[in-house]
Amino acid sequence: MKATERPEAAAGDKRPSFPVRLPANAGVPSASKRSANAVNGFKPLPLKHSVVGLQKPMPAGVGLDSQTVRSRMVEKLAKQGVQDTAVLAAMGQVERHRFVDTALANQAYEDTSLPIGLGQTISKPNVVARMLELLREGKGMGERLGRVLEIGTGCGYQAAVLSHLASEVYSIERLRGLHEKARDNLRHVRLANVHLLFGDGMQGFAKGAPYAAIIAAAGGEAIPPAWIEQLAVGGRLVAPMQTATGQQALVVIDKTVEGIRQAVLEAVHFVPLKSGTN
Ligand code: SAH
Repeated sequence: MKATERPEAAAGDKRPSFPVRLPANAGVPSASKRSANAVNGFKPLPLKHSVVGLQKPMPAGVGLDSQTVRSRMVEKLAKQGVQDTAVLAAMGQVERHRFVDTALANQAYEDTSLPIGLGQTISKPNVVARMLELLREGKGMGERLGRVLEIGTGCGYQAAVLSHLASEVYSIERLRGLHEKARDNLRHVRLANVHLLFGDGMQGFAKGAPYAAIIAAAGGEAIPPAWIEQLAVGGRLVAPMQTATGQQALVVIDKTVEGIRQAVLEAVHFVPLKSGTN
């Protein structure tokens, strides 16, 4: 299973704005301006949960001060076009190298996807930031998302980033091995607002619904109806999905009082969304 995002998904491309009305099968993004979140007067939020104090030893290659390496990653993300300062701050907080194998830790802050075991991958930072930015679009710096559902916990990295941006994070994984790995990775971080669930995310997680936002890290041929049902009115869903051309693209769905609005954005390449558990 090839599991990297394609280079064309990288930032720096002209990105289409949202909302735009497109037919459900549209595959070609339209280019226009993105809405920027307030940048002026930004002060980093006092984050509720600290990610310092992890007990795993610092792997060789990351350097003594991983904060410096992370700051460089964040600077690069900003240069690539990520504008949401809350997303940048959250990505600057989470120690990505703690979520990958020690042997890969020295690549943790490069703009690359990395294997996390069982044929799955952690998305490259740029794609994580892009999706979180879309999820938060229109929100101010100090504004948190409400309850968020993440489909595909993987190693738990994105859930950790989300924990700084949302009041509650429900993250579901269908592979027991990865669910347990994420549990291990997050144990020492003690993110009290992250709830790891083992199950088939195609069914969503009805007990936590309605969600202010839903984000998927695996792509199927269609958006499962349960996700739309469990999305709050006024909520947004960001997910990879196969389009009419057979290519995978990022899809943004807004649930409004008038109904569902869907936009198909840039091409991506995520691991497949699968049903059942393993
Ligand atoms: N966000 C993750 C990326 C994980 S890769 C991280 O930061 O590490 C995508 C994950 O989606 C894989 O672990 C895969 O097992 C999982 N997945 C695929 N289909 C799923 C489903 N129906 N329910 C839950 N998880 C699923």
